[in-house]
Amino acid sequence: MTELYINSIRILDIVHGTSVDGPGLRTSIYGAGCTHQCPGCHNPQSWDPSGGTSVSVREVAEEVLAEGLDVTFSGGDPMFQPEAFTLLAKIIRANSTHDIWCYTGYRIERLFSDPRRRALLEQVDVLVDGPYVQSLRDLSLLFRGSANQRLVDVPATLAQGRVVLYTPEDVTYEYISKPRQAILPSSPMRATAVSILEHSNAL
Ligand code: SF4
Repeated sequence: MTELYINSIRILDIVHGTSVDGPGLRTSIYGAGCTHQCPGCHNPQSWDPSGGTSVSVREVAEEVLAEGLDVTFSGGDPMFQPEAFTLLAKIIRANSTHDIWCYTGYRIERLFSDPRRRALLEQVDVLVDGPYVQSLRDLSLLFRGSANQRLVDVPATLAQGRVVLYTPEDVTYEYISKPRQAILPSSPMRATAVSILEHSNAL
């Protein structure tokens, strides 16, 4: 694994202030690459691992930290760039108390024995796991699109050695009518993501 690879990340978009990818207002980072090929996927253009824009992980981290919101990793599937997202998560954790959510098409059990992806898992507070299953589509679900997908409390799961579901306590439900599948962006990474280059040595 080269230093260059670890320190760069392919990003489709960064959205600040979103309320559909976890509780509260969050910064969502959409990484390129996914091979799950779920029928009915909201964003098949995100499957290409060479899509989006390659940027420094530190640039992304600085933009996230400057915004000051909790964070969601999505895509695509962040588990297709585990080293880059792990580094990003570690920088965020070292410089803030923001919580980190991550969406993945894998069920969490698959990640336990995969050292590269487990390293990312260990940086995550809540994992929204499992592929999107069109026949189980349910617009009333919180933060996910089909009934097979779970909100997993990752620290509790790792500590107890069994899947522990996350139960949100203080969320508002006004966005339930806006299914996540309809909202995920497909636009190129926003220019603001690279507007913080001059601060790149601050971390
Ligand atoms: S995991 Fe998500 S991005 Fe990947 S194919 Fe399934 S719905 Fe699409």
